[in-house]
Amino acid sequence: MVRAIDVHVHPPTTEYLEGSGGSYFSNAFGIMDKAEPFSDLVSKFTDAGVERAVLLAWDAETMTRQPATSNEFIASVVEQHPDFFIGFGSIDPWKGREAIREVRRFKSRYGFTGVKLHPPAQSFSPADPRFFPLWDAIQSEGLVVLMHAGHTGFGAGLPGAGGVRLRHARPFPDIEEFATSFPRIPLICAHPGWPWHDDLLALAMHNANVYIDLSGWSPKYLPPSVVQHAKSLLQDKVLFGTDYPVISPERWISDLQAYGFKEDVVDKILYRNAARLLGVS
Ligand SMILES: [Zn+2]
Repeated sequence: MVRAIDVHVHPPTTEYLEGSGGSYFSNAFGIMDKAEPFSDLVSKFTDAGVERAVLLAWDAETMTRQPATSNEFIASVVEQHPDFFIGFGSIDPWKGREAIREVRRFKSRYGFTGVKLHPPAQSFSPADPRFFPLWDAIQSEGLVVLMHAGHTGFGAGLPGAGGVRLRHARPFPDIEEFATSFPRIPLICAHPGWPWHDDLLALAMHNANVYIDLSGWSPKYLPPSVVQHAKSLLQDKVLFGTDYPVISPERWISDLQAYGFKEDVVDKILYRNAARLLGVS
């Protein structure tokens, strides 16, 4: 029996799937009909060996003109399943001083331990100095950052990609600038980072504070260099994540096990690396 911590779960609600993602998702994924109650999610994940899961808020209002999945809502779900969910809030960096005020309330008001950032969907570069006061607030609050890296299904297939620019999610120079300027922020780069997966591997090897979650892809389809590094040099830096409802935890975990990695390495990827990073005992 495995034990696992999923560091990347979206709320499977109609509000998130249709509201927050809306037309930006419709051409890319058949996930719009995947709404389900949180109690079903929790039992499905628990059956697959997942003990804890990071649940993500979403606010890209300035860019998308679509409603947020609010920090209040995510906090209320975590309150109903406090032994299972770990809440990560969202702030729209374009909200300026209000975003900074909100980040300063994350721990005290919501009990959040991290922030989700999505540079393409929120239309910013993490290297842009205009946002450094916000990154500074995140660092001084001691929050973990989960930052989207590489290609995204958000906007994929739309004319002009709906204005969603992939270049904001490049490991070099965009994410590196963030990681080196704010070295006390534990930074989880979300997804293998394709088509810059080798760049992302280099960034994670180079920076002690950079981690990679392998969410959104079945391990079966990961590029060979990612698989090679996950079982060797980066075995302490790579984390399990589903990007639920994109992939189910049982499929992700069984596809990982098919590689036949050493048991110790599997336990690090599925559980120990995240436990250390998130302070789960
Ligand atoms: Zn995601």
